[in-house]
Amino acid sequence: MSRHSKIFTGLILGAIAGVLSNLYFPATPFLLVVQKYISDPLGKIFLNLLIMMVIPLVFASLSLGVAQIGDLKKLGRIGFKTIMYFFLVTAFAVTIGLILVNIIRPGDYLPGETKTKLLATYKGQAVELKESSEKIEFGIQTLVNVIPRNPAAAIAKPIPDMLALIFFSLMIGIALTLISQEKAKPIMNLLEGINDITLVIINMAMKLAPYGVFALLFSVTSRFGFDLLVALGMYVVTVLLGLSLHLFGVYPILIRIFSKYNPLLFFRKVETVILTAFSTSSSSATLPTTISVSQNNLGIPSHITGFVLPLGATMNMNGTALFEGVTVLFLAQVFGINLSIGTQLIVVLMSVLIAIGTAGVPSGSIPLLIMVLTMVNIPAEGIAIILGIDRVLDMCRTVPNVIGDITCAAYVAKSEGYDLKV
Ligand code: ASP
Repeated sequence: MSRHSKIFTGLILGAIAGVLSNLYFPATPFLLVVQKYISDPLGKIFLNLLIMMVIPLVFASLSLGVAQIGDLKKLGRIGFKTIMYFFLVTAFAVTIGLILVNIIRPGDYLPGETKTKLLATYKGQAVELKESSEKIEFGIQTLVNVIPRNPAAAIAKPIPDMLALIFFSLMIGIALTLISQEKAKPIMNLLEGINDITLVIINMAMKLAPYGVFALLFSVTSRFGFDLLVALGMYVVTVLLGLSLHLFGVYPILIRIFSKYNPLLFFRKVETVILTAFSTSSSSATLPTTISVSQNNLGIPSHITGFVLPLGATMNMNGTALFEGVTVLFLAQVFGINLSIGTQLIVVLMSVLIAIGTAGVPSGSIPLLIMVLTMVNIPAEGIAIILGIDRVLDMCRTVPNVIGDITCAAYVAKSEGYDLKV
């Protein structure tokens, strides 16, 4: 069996086992023990193994990628194409979401008593999240913080400050192109070594993927409130429809036009990335897989994957941006607040900006989403309404988040004159 078939089997079996346990032993002491002592730790071990390597990988691959691009003019050109692509495709994703939410109006379908019940059930969690979101500094300070005073402190946080790490790595890469070849060479060899080591460790971790994915899926589905899925049915349909349109409608067009590549073949080549993103709900945890699949299966040169993909894992989140736009408007509809076209444009802009600042970890976007709600005068506690189903939506939005990064790397490679591997 190939690796992705094994992971897929783990995913399906984990989901089936979880759904059956949820049905037959909901919240029984037996199930709680299985979750606490078996599935949760196993899933976390797998996730930690992947996430453990993300900081060295981002540092090594980004600084090496920049150094290998070599000349600053070329770096500027590649950087410009990458950032423009991220920005435009993310804005397009939010627009799809907003069009759908205005047409379907999922907020009108939520029964009043379900709303009251959800607000009461998830109130505690919502208040905690609101408090943590109040601590986020957004604005000019966000920009200042991108330049870390102490790079070690920026990464030594439970959720590392990836934008600061990106900036630091970019500077090291640029400096490497400016010092003499003789001095740069040993450092580049070292970075290459770190890069290879992280990918070897990730490869070992991915051998555990079928079991890790089984455990992750079991943990989610055995706790999941399926009745919520029905109660919030129209909202879920709107988010999933938007994500599917973007993933299976927009990306194939972009791949065909910009990379001159067969979209079906593309999806077949990135299957492992899709499964890893879906089961881990984390762009960061998926990054090593994204890099090795892009290099090995699609033949994208390493200086382009090394530059575009670590940036994309943090800055390019099309699925998250679409989800944020839909959720803000859905909650506005639920609370009977009419958002003018001008305010909706602010939502588009904020969703794009927030997608850049969101950490690529499970539910990384929620604290920032709360900030947007407050900004457009929607009660922030309203987030309680969607918290119960967020994990499943998170799994789904993380897939376009990472696939969008690969489509960008493929576009940049093609535009720089490299052909992809068929
Ligand atoms: N889980 C998402 C990611 O890692 C972020 C989010 O939307 O919460 O890409």
